[in-house]
Amino acid sequence: MREKVRNIRLGKLTAEQNIRNFILKIKKNNKKINAVLHLNPDAIEEAKQVDKMKKKGKLAGIGVVVKSNINVNGLIANCASKTLEDYKSSYDATVIKKLKDEGAVILGMANMDEFASGSSGESSAFGVCKNPSALDRIPGGSSSGSAASVAADFCDFSLGSDTGGSIRNPASHCSVVGMKPSYGAVSRYGLIDLSMSLDQIGPLGKSVEDIELVYNVINGFDENDGVSRNFSSEKMKKSLKIGVPFVNADEQIWDIIKIKIQEVCDGQGWKADDIELKHIDLGIQTYYPINYVEFFSGTRRFDGRKYGKKIEESCGEEVLRRILGGQEISQAEFAGKYYRRALIAKKIIEKEFVEAFKKYDCIIMPTVPKLPHKIGEKISVEDSYDYDTLTVLANLAEIPAISIPVGDVGGVPVGIQILCARGNDDFMLNIAKVFEK
Ligand code: GLN
Repeated sequence: MREKVRNIRLGKLTAEQNIRNFILKIKKNNKKINAVLHLNPDAIEEAKQVDKMKKKGKLAGIGVVVKSNINVNGLIANCASKTLEDYKSSYDATVIKKLKDEGAVILGMANMDEFASGSSGESSAFGVCKNPSALDRIPGGSSSGSAASVAADFCDFSLGSDTGGSIRNPASHCSVVGMKPSYGAVSRYGLIDLSMSLDQIGPLGKSVEDIELVYNVINGFDENDGVSRNFSSEKMKKSLKIGVPFVNADEQIWDIIKIKIQEVCDGQGWKADDIELKHIDLGIQTYYPINYVEFFSGTRRFDGRKYGKKIEESCGEEVLRRILGGQEISQAEFAGKYYRRALIAKKIIEKEFVEAFKKYDCIIMPTVPKLPHKIGEKISVEDSYDYDTLTVLANLAEIPAISIPVGDVGGVPVGIQILCARGNDDFMLNIAKVFEK
C-alpha cells in the first residue's frame, strides 16, 4: 500500500484509476462472494477530488470497505439487519473522518453477522458471505465481508469491529491480516455497538505493513469517546521472550503454530516457553453474559420510533437470543449472579495477562481453535460460541491482538495470534512483521 500511495502522490497512478479498478472488480465478482452490501455511489467522484488535491495525505487514493456497523455519512449502516435496513448515516465515525482526511476513499459497506453477533457470516439478513480463500467454507465473522473483501481484492484494506474476535476470526479463515487494537486506542465514536466495554474498531489488510499504516492514522485520543486515549508503545527489542499457553485447539492447527514459533525463534535467537494461564478457560463464560447484558441495554433504542423497525420484531435468531438472554440476566435477582460475577472474572483474566506480560514480551496461540465449517452445515449454539474461545481473551483483558496468516490445513487457511500488553500495539505490529516473513 505504501508503494501505491507513493505512486498516487507522484501522479504515476491516479486515485481515480485505483478506485475504478476496485469498483469494477466488486461489480463483477461480488455476486459470487456477497462481501459488499452497498457501493458508495460517489466513490469515483471522491477519488477525482483526491487527484486534484495539492497535499494528498498518507492514504491518498486508497480504497476502503467499511463494516456496516460504522457510520459513514450518506451510506447505509444497517448492521446487516432488517431492523436498520434503510438506515442512512448522517455523520462520519471518527475513524472515517481520519481516513478521509488522509485521502482514503470509501468504496462501500460490508456484509457482516447481524449486529456483529456471530462468528460465521451466516447470520446476515442479506445472505451469507462466501470465503474467497476456501469457497465452500464460512468466511468467519462477524466482520465477514470486511475480511472477504480484502481476500477477494475488492479493496486495499477494510475496517471491522472486534468485540470477541470479529476482526481476527474472519482474518484467520480468509487468510488476511486483522488487528484488534488495545481497548481505548481507537475511537469508538460512530460505531453501532455490540458490547461497549469490549468493542474496538480495527483494520484488516493484506500485510502487517498495511495494517500499521492504517493503525497510525486511526488511533489516538478522541474527545467524543470517553475511554479513548493515547498510548505509548515499547520500542522493538533484539531479544524477545514468547509465552505459549496451553489452550485447546485442533492438533493440526497447533502443529502449524508451533513450527512457526520454532522457526522464528531459531532465526531471531528469541526464546519461547510454555506459560500457564489458569483462568483463560473462563473466557467464554465471562464474555457472553457481559455481551448479552450490554447488547440488550444498547438495543433499547431500536424500539421502532427513531431508527428503523422494532428490533424484537425484525431481527434474526441469534440477535433475539441475546436480547432475551440479556433481559433475563439483567433482572435484579440475577444481576449479581451473572453480570457482576462476569465482571469480576473479567478483572481476574485481565490481571493474569498483566502478570504474564511482566515475564513475556508477547503471548502466542492459534487465532481460532478449529477450522471453519462448510457453509450450510448446522452447528449448535455452543459449537458456534466455541469459535471465540481464543479471541475473547484479548477483549476481556483490553489488550491488543493480531491475526496473521500462517499456513493451511488441506487448503483451509489458519491464522496465528499474537497478543501484547495493553498499549503495546506498535510493539505488537513489529513482532507480527517478523512472523509474517
Ligand atoms: N463471535 C463473537 C460474538 O458473537 C464475537 C463477535 C464480535 O467480536 N463482534 O459475540
